[in-house]
Amino acid sequence: KTEHVRKPDWLKIKLNTNESYTGLKKMMREKNLHTVCEEARCPNIHECWAVRKTATFMILGDTCTRGCRFCAVKTGLPTELDLDEPERVADSVEQMGLKHVVITAVARDDLKDGGSNVFAETVRAVRRRNPLCTIEVLPSDMMGLEENLKTLMEARPNILNHNIETVRRLTKKVRARAKYDRSLQFLSYSKELHPDIPTKSSLMIGLGETAEEIEEVMDDLRANDVDIMTIGQYLQPTKKHLPVIKYYTPDEFQQFKELAMSKGFKHCEAGPLVRSSYHADEQVDKAQVW
Ligand code: SF4
Ligand code: SF4
Repeated sequence: KTEHVRKPDWLKIKLNTNESYTGLKKMMREKNLHTVCEEARCPNIHECWAVRKTATFMILGDTCTRGCRFCAVKTGLPTELDLDEPERVADSVEQMGLKHVVITAVARDDLKDGGSNVFAETVRAVRRRNPLCTIEVLPSDMMGLEENLKTLMEARPNILNHNIETVRRLTKKVRARAKYDRSLQFLSYSKELHPDIPTKSSLMIGLGETAEEIEEVMDDLRANDVDIMTIGQYLQPTKKHLPVIKYYTPDEFQQFKELAMSKGFKHCEAGPLVRSSYHADEQVDKAQVW
């Protein structure tokens, strides 16, 4: 039996919501769109939506063909493809006045193209309507098929983000159907295709990994030429999900950040509330390689 670890004070924060937030939520429902910000009940939502003008859209439906043991998205067989979704996302980006948008998707292992065509179309639609907004894509490994990544990257997002999520040893337990090395290959293939598009990956900690294993992830990412790394605290979304084994202190996060920077990442964001998309707007500038 895993011992219950108490949530430390620095994670007890109140959701800050206001009227503009309520209006935006209403718009999302009317357009039948999903954001990770809402679904993951992200504590940064006010700062991101209202102050930083950034948000994370989840496309290709709200039902995932995988069931990772840390993730709150529902698992099942998704409904048919919604071909108008790219335009509705583009429209919302415009209405929200976003400066940076992260587009992620559930894993569509039921589709031959892994959803890459609609994904690419969404990038193009957002760019057409919002030429100044930077676009970060955060796909699953799309079954590790190179042609799927190629289809997506032809739309030329500003950043390719693919999360390694956890250390090598815990991958099987934490992520469904994903492989540690396949994720590394995916990141490396993106660089091979488009050396000028920065790559990024995120790690959740608190699942029972050791400091050495965290360092190994940094080395593996750097060996595959990944530019940006984010490190955040894993929080258990419901009792059915994996328990938190350890809460790292803000100081420990700072030390990991320094270690990552010493290994040559162009940028590393690390902290208890850091999410894959947290402060993503700043990372674009820091990682520009052209
Ligand atoms: Fe949304 Fe990411 Fe910001 Fe959270 S950190 S509110 S998920 S954009
Ligand atoms: Fe969640 Fe992504 Fe895993 Fe699906 S593939 S369960 S959306 S983390």
